[in-house]
Amino acid sequence: MTKLKNILIRRIETEGPISLADYMAQCLMHPKHGYYQRERVFGADGDFITAPEVSQMFGEAIGLWLADRWIAMGSPSSVSLVELGPGRGTLMADILRAASNVPGFREAARVHFIETSQQLRALQKQKVPTAKWHDDFSSIPEGPALIVANEFFDALPIHQYEKRDSKWFERSVGVVGDDLGFVLTQPTAQFALVPASLLGAPEGSALEVCPAAISISANIAEHLSQHGGAALYIDYGYAHSAPGDTFQALKQHEFTNPFSEPGKADLTAHVAFDRLAESSLGKGTKAFGTNEQGAFLMAIGLGLRAQKLATRADDKAQMQILSELKRLTAPDEMGTLFKVLAVQHPGLSNPPGF
Ligand code: SAH
Repeated sequence: MTKLKNILIRRIETEGPISLADYMAQCLMHPKHGYYQRERVFGADGDFITAPEVSQMFGEAIGLWLADRWIAMGSPSSVSLVELGPGRGTLMADILRAASNVPGFREAARVHFIETSQQLRALQKQKVPTAKWHDDFSSIPEGPALIVANEFFDALPIHQYEKRDSKWFERSVGVVGDDLGFVLTQPTAQFALVPASLLGAPEGSALEVCPAAISISANIAEHLSQHGGAALYIDYGYAHSAPGDTFQALKQHEFTNPFSEPGKADLTAHVAFDRLAESSLGKGTKAFGTNEQGAFLMAIGLGLRAQKLATRADDKAQMQILSELKRLTAPDEMGTLFKVLAVQHPGLSNPPGF
């Protein structure tokens, strides 16, 4: 049994079942036993691989998208370049390298990382030593901002509900036998965040809400409408909220039982992009998308970039570039499951890629 499992079982035995959101937060962010305190999370030897770890072309394309938005903003002499959940820091390093070809951008950009894991902060510092770190968005300085988040929102804790006997219950985490498992309890206040249009779903349906995603995207949108700038959110998820259970645990590239080893597996849920857009529009920004990752990346020039790299490469490297391109864009790989949403100040020109 993991140490964290022991802690959680003891807590539930004295306090009663905890929400799934509470369970996810403990498993992912516990300061000592949380999943993201481990170093070997991403990559071939980790539990999952993300787009920036698949290919440097991903971050380079995003870097040029961000530099384009900076120019659209009138090339301000200082801009906060903010990344939420930077992982190993690979995406930002690739962004900075590509965008440094755009005159003036590198000098204007101040990198801010929003990261809770101390282990990952140390890795990020190796890649981007000049960055400043924050626990959350509230300490990002005033002024224009460019914001990027790849596979961040899927890691935020969700609440789940289930319809039984024509009523909605919360799927909480309790002790079942001598193990952890789902138990149904009365819904807590967050249930009010479920869109009314989904409440008529049939018996046995599951619904999900991610209060943290809604409030973080609203805070970012408020900043963008006050100070100017743009945000780009990339994640796996759905364009339109629908009933369904998307909570999952991943360990060494395989799905696993989310209760068997708390803190040792990555826990995620699909991102409801319409909820991110809705909370952003509510703060006076404009939203673009949702587009699929494959279509977005091709529209912003990933194909051309790959072609250019391939002409200078030997046969083996050419095969590698093609396989990375396919991984990022093909419908049966990351191309359609992953979605992209842009949010920006209403005064900015339309962003490329949508
Ligand atoms: N963007 C990276 C890593 C994705 S994994 C990539 O694409 O490779 C999720 C990242 O978000 C990790 O860095 C994790 O530590 C961080 N994270 C998760 N929840 C967070 C929260 N509530 N606040 C800040 N960072 C968080």
